[in-house]
Amino acid sequence: MDEIEVDVMVVGGGAAGLSGALMLARARRTVLVVDGGQPRNAPAEGVHGLLGHDGLPPGELLARGRAEVASYGGTVVKDTVVGVAREGDGFRVALGSGGEVVARRMLLATGLVDRLPDVPGLMEHWGHDVVHCPYCHGWEVRDRPIAVLGTGAMSFHQVQLFRQWTDDLVFVQHDAPDPTRDERLLMEARGIRHVSGRVVEVLADGGGITGLRMADGQVVERAVIAVATQMEARAEAFSSLGLVAVDHPSGMGRHVPVDAQGRTQVEGLWAAGNVTDLSAQVGMAAAQGAQAGAMINMDLVLADGARAVNDHLVRLAPGPSVRPA
Ligand SMILES: Cc1cc2nc3c(=O)[nH]c(=O)nc-3n(C[C@H](O)[C@H](O)[C@H](O)COP(=O)(O)OP(=O)(O)OC[C@H]3O[C@@H](n4cnc5c(N)ncnc54)[C@H](O)[C@@H]3O)c2cc1C
Repeated sequence: MDEIEVDVMVVGGGAAGLSGALMLARARRTVLVVDGGQPRNAPAEGVHGLLGHDGLPPGELLARGRAEVASYGGTVVKDTVVGVAREGDGFRVALGSGGEVVARRMLLATGLVDRLPDVPGLMEHWGHDVVHCPYCHGWEVRDRPIAVLGTGAMSFHQVQLFRQWTDDLVFVQHDAPDPTRDERLLMEARGIRHVSGRVVEVLADGGGITGLRMADGQVVERAVIAVATQMEARAEAFSSLGLVAVDHPSGMGRHVPVDAQGRTQVEGLWAAGNVTDLSAQVGMAAAQGAQAGAMINMDLVLADGARAVNDHLVRLAPGPSVRPA
């Protein structure tokens, strides 16, 4: 791709970005989606809890979204945004392929990266027998022997949640703080076993996870591991605009703050989906993208109107413009 100009450039073609692009293409804006092709839920077999699409493979949902955007004249390309600079009140964007895009407005929908604890064997099972979200996977792992692998303060929250899906639950403390008196009482009352100490290895055979080996040599037999990941918003390419991901108040990771309508602190740049809302599932990410798309269109409607009035007044009274552009 050489240099092109568009009304809106959407960075990231997951649920948030494609949903924003669909709104914008239907609003008759020229829209380009640039997508690196690494959606967060790629390892999962199906998207669960999404009304009307429950269980649809993630790749199929996104393929449908790309086709819908294209059917209204939007363009989706596989590429990566590597740098962004100001150009007037819009942006000049550098792509990994070497091309450049000039855009009046931008939607950041780059998602996040899940960082798992550095335990050998854990990553290999991510999205299958190693899960983070009970609403995404809880039904699929119901009634199985589950361990919550402690990573921090959020882990006890997971212990409470996953108990809803199984009565065979073990809290393996690992990096989590010592449970309080009330937390111990709750585990006792709910029949949740507590194993203190650190995990050194996840054990598996051809059929999946079989257990966790602890530092003292003991093996905790389990088939499923629930783990709260550290979530890192993917926003590096926008640091040149002064946009930085900040610590989320929950301690879950780092995100890009936005206002209630998805506007970032950078004029002309909106954000939607997991890059700003770390706990957003697919439905929420898509809703945020749709809202941001509509808000971007409104911003352009106002800019187009102001420009038209200015041009009109200039035509009526030739000379210096009477209103700022
Ligand atoms: C294992 C797993 C299973 C899940 N299961 C479910 C489920 O069953 N139901 C559910 O509702 N939710 C599920 N989720 C959550 C779901 O993944 C997120 O809600 C959803 O992916 C958020 O969409 P998004 O558009 O914000 O980000 P993403 O889907 O992650 O899309 C972001 C896109 O931006 C691209 N990108 C990043 N940086 C750049 C760049 N610089 N230039 C160009 N492109 C870039 C990426 O390559 C990616 O394609 C699951 C998550 C995980 C980890």
